[in-house]
Amino acid sequence: MAIDEINRDGLFGEAFKQAVYELADGQRVRTCIQCGTCSGVCPFGYWMDLAPRQMVRTLREDKLDRSKAADTVWLCVSCYACATACPQQIPLTTALISRTREELLLSGDIPHELQSALENSQRYGNANGESPRKRANWIKDSIPPVRLISKVKRPIDVLWYVGDYTSYHPRVQKSAQALVRVLSALDVDFAILGHDEVSDGDSQRLAGESGLFEMLAEKNSRAFSKYDFNEIITTDPHAFNALKNEYPRLGFSFPVRHYTEFLADRIDDLKPLMNHDVNALVTYHDPCYLGRANNIYDEPRSLLEAIPGVVLVEMSHNRSHSLCCGNGGGGLWLQSYQWERTGNRLAEWRVREALRAGPEKTFSSVIGEKKKRKAYRKEKQLPETRILAVACPYEAPCFEEAAKLLPEASDLQVKDIAELLAEALGE
Ligand code: SF4
Ligand code: SF4
Repeated sequence: MAIDEINRDGLFGEAFKQAVYELADGQRVRTCIQCGTCSGVCPFGYWMDLAPRQMVRTLREDKLDRSKAADTVWLCVSCYACATACPQQIPLTTALISRTREELLLSGDIPHELQSALENSQRYGNANGESPRKRANWIKDSIPPVRLISKVKRPIDVLWYVGDYTSYHPRVQKSAQALVRVLSALDVDFAILGHDEVSDGDSQRLAGESGLFEMLAEKNSRAFSKYDFNEIITTDPHAFNALKNEYPRLGFSFPVRHYTEFLADRIDDLKPLMNHDVNALVTYHDPCYLGRANNIYDEPRSLLEAIPGVVLVEMSHNRSHSLCCGNGGGGLWLQSYQWERTGNRLAEWRVREALRAGPEKTFSSVIGEKKKRKAYRKEKQLPETRILAVACPYEAPCFEEAAKLLPEASDLQVKDIAELLAEALGE
């Protein structure tokens, strides 16, 4: 259905309902049994004007002005929890929420901070509003050095799609450097695009800007097509999701793996190289777009388990039940909006949960329990160091920030899996 046709009928008219039904699996919306599972698992469901179940109901009842006015549309962090738990397999995240956002964008009715991120993406090719010329600055002092694919002048094995956040955020650049060390230790023949790379566009798409997503996807795909390589690896699960599932819908197909998948495949080569004992109790946060959206749960865990001295423990919400960090699907650009309406940060919930992962579940995360926890670790001979391991560039900065705000989390470290591997390599 053409956008013009939707606008003629009026925003959120019958045409909008039909447009949702016409999306992939959109017809499933008709089969909703109003069980409320989606609202129950939604991390922001409690605070939303209309919880996901009610969003479906208003759509079916044609009370669509209510959906338009609801804060649900912008509180949603596109975490896939509702769609994964729905017994009717209704694509709430990709069909209902994204489509509603698209309509609000067309009418210009969007939060200011999101507007800036989208304008930056359009103008600079990254949501941060950074100069495209500085995209590869992080490799300037890299040891070992990182090559730009344009300078290699021969076919290479791996093209690393670095992504916005990794290229520009100082904290995430450290994780990138760690991955450089791991790839180099494995003698991987890799290079990056550098200035030719733009945002993967997945978060812009989920925020409702499908036109911008298509433009970014086309730019990246044109850049990929200039070079000869065997596969792409990504640092960002959102980029991985875009390249794997969304670019092919536009006719751009490239072999792609998340870096944890790529490294897990080489675990037998990695193991003999890891001779430094990390000695820590580690819990792993499943990123929504690696786990729920793409079913990758075992590879990151197998890497962690291979690290000497790591005792891997699970949080209460793990694998497909993982809690979102709050940054996906444009959530990164809507943090003030989330805070104003809910007074909650999802990252803080997750950090509290990380403190109680594994055998220490019985301890609450209040400050007074910290001493008891320490004594328990000593008695059970558990490592004193506690690490929250991540595999998405959005996560280390946001969990570290959350840990700073929680006095009981002062001894929790947040590390990307690549950083833990590099540490085990003695790098
Ligand atoms: S979980 Fe699925 S079936 Fe149940 S209310 Fe939500 S959308 Fe409807
Ligand atoms: S995708 Fe996540 S945040 Fe959005 S409605 Fe579903 S459960 Fe809630």
